[in-house]
Amino acid sequence: MPLIGLCDCNNFFVSCERLFRPDLKDRPVIVLSSNDGCVISRSNEAKAIGIPMGEPFFKVEGIVKAYKVHVFSTNFPLYEDISKRVHAVIRAHAPETEDYSVDESFFSLDIAALRSPEAYARTLGETIRRWVGVPVSIGLAPTKTLAKLAAEYAKKHAETNGVHRLEPGAELDALLERTPVGDVWGVGRRYADFLNRCNTGNARKLRDKPDDWLRRHLTIRGLQTGWELRGVSCIPIRTTDPPQKSIQVSRSFGAPTTMIEPIREAVTTFVSRGAEKMRAQGMRARVLHVYITTSRFHPPVTCPVGRMTFEAPASYTPTLVTAALDVLDEIFVRGEWYVKAGIGLSEFSEEGQRQLFLPGASLDPQEDDRRTRYMEAVDRINRVLGQDAIRPAAMPARGKESGWGPRRDHESPETTEHSLR
Ligand SMILES: [Mg+2]
Repeated sequence: MPLIGLCDCNNFFVSCERLFRPDLKDRPVIVLSSNDGCVISRSNEAKAIGIPMGEPFFKVEGIVKAYKVHVFSTNFPLYEDISKRVHAVIRAHAPETEDYSVDESFFSLDIAALRSPEAYARTLGETIRRWVGVPVSIGLAPTKTLAKLAAEYAKKHAETNGVHRLEPGAELDALLERTPVGDVWGVGRRYADFLNRCNTGNARKLRDKPDDWLRRHLTIRGLQTGWELRGVSCIPIRTTDPPQKSIQVSRSFGAPTTMIEPIREAVTTFVSRGAEKMRAQGMRARVLHVYITTSRFHPPVTCPVGRMTFEAPASYTPTLVTAALDVLDEIFVRGEWYVKAGIGLSEFSEEGQRQLFLPGASLDPQEDDRRTRYMEAVDRINRVLGQDAIRPAAMPARGKESGWGPRRDHESPETTEHSLR
């Protein structure tokens, strides 16, 4: 039976900030989202005094003053840097890794070669603490879905020393029974509401539903979740290798939509982020993909994909946004409920490589230089003043998205997301 690990950094943003402020160890600390909007990370001490996750800052200002809570504004470049270091340690110690999110990695374990997977995981956690400095919780289980639950258990139970292993059996049955169905990986809020109405309020009841029921009501994804809860691995580790050959940005919407306007906004945002990332690597893309996914609650689920190939590789955001919106117009179908959109940039070439000037097919070199310098200036300003200080007119400010923006209670489920956190 395979064994999958999930390494999850505890209170990640707070832990990153504490690296440079050791005096804040044991003190209540919170980190706020951009523009100091909401609480997005809390130290254990901040949790203990009752500061809720995702709460608007103004609502907790009283308690912050009363308990002398230390407050940080978000510092994403720092978190991304620390995240890379944590991922690198895991990659150096495991046969396969998948960087699942900024603070979580799945990894495989060579179970035949390990006398004690738990001891191995403990050493890995200790290594991350020593080399990078952030505390982690590690879950071990035969499936990704159970590894998530195991890591959550490890985080909440100090006696585990940060590592917990789950195997099918009585202990797992009891844990699943205590786990609200909405806490199961891959079960979103709407899904959870539906299951609760069907008297399937905990993970054990979900696991024990017949396959045909799961497939009929929850599609193949729900069936996979059911199997994974039984200990049968159906969601493989998708290895993420460091040299990027493409950039993907995608996100599930906070609420499903039938309208094209919010999706245009989302696609514009994703292209801008992807293009910025790509320029930071000194790359241009020849191919742009756009896809949108319909809701599993309105089957059949479809995921139309459109593609644009550029004569000359592009990194100029307005060019990419215009192309992406054209592609979106082609694949969007009126009346469908969409829950997610994504873009991909691929077939990179280096920015410095002068493109062959073909009259009529591409830009003249002077205009190309002007656009390159323009984007360099925009990127530099955004680095200094904060992300999105300059952005396409069609792109909303963070937190001002029209309906597609993220809910705060869910992590984005896609592994390939590089920039939206
Ligand atoms: Mg975490």
